[in-house]
Amino acid sequence: MSQRFGRSQTDRGDTGSGGLDGAQIQLHGRLNSIRDDLHGVKDAITLAIRACTVTALDLEEYGETSSVSEVDQSLRQLLDAQHQLDVEERLLNNLCSGGEHKNPEAEYMKGWEKDSKKYATLSEAVKYGNNSEYREFRQQVWNVKHEGQDMPPLFDTEARDSDEELVVAGARMTYKCPITTTWLVDPVTSKTCKHSFSKQAIADYLRAKHGQGACPVGGCSHMLRIADLYADKVLERNIARRLRELEAQESSATYTVVQ
Ligand SMILES: [Zn+2]
Repeated sequence: MSQRFGRSQTDRGDTGSGGLDGAQIQLHGRLNSIRDDLHGVKDAITLAIRACTVTALDLEEYGETSSVSEVDQSLRQLLDAQHQLDVEERLLNNLCSGGEHKNPEAEYMKGWEKDSKKYATLSEAVKYGNNSEYREFRQQVWNVKHEGQDMPPLFDTEARDSDEELVVAGARMTYKCPITTTWLVDPVTSKTCKHSFSKQAIADYLRAKHGQGACPVGGCSHMLRIADLYADKVLERNIARRLRELEAQESSATYTVVQ
């Protein structure tokens, strides 16, 4: 079920059959440039989602509940846009892949309409409740005032349609680096598998593997490169808050570390 965009496309543009005519080569060139543009927009959306999260955390801390709801709505719109881009990317990848595409435009439109119709019928619980980025956002906001307590269901009918995404969502955030096993320092998070590491530790690990290595988290099969990691400001903030709380509790003798 998982799709790894880009991986299988490294040999694109040459189908090996030598049968591409001029028009097809031109089409491929255009499609590839559109795909590059898509990546740029997707990166911008990812940044906007992180900005939403940081903003919502501040608002929640100051008790601005209605403003948090507005950010929540904006985030959902970003996720809708992200979904559309994912669909476009998949359709473009299909068109760039081998095989004959007699009427690429019609093929593209057909795929697009099919998905749009399907997406429109999905409930909010399916669209967002199963989205790992959305769940993480809500979890972060929840943690501001309820650290260590279980978050109640986000939707009345918590959908269980997409097992794949729920596995990601179910991975509880941890504040310890899987490499050093101590508190994360300058946390970085993988764009692909969402696992987080202390910056120095993962940099050393990847350097030893000549720039690319399997994710050090047990059971995770993703390959990591430095370029796949981003500085996780949200996580950094949460750790700082958690450490402040622990410090405050320390004076009152008994406490348990909740991860
Ligand atoms: Zn991983």
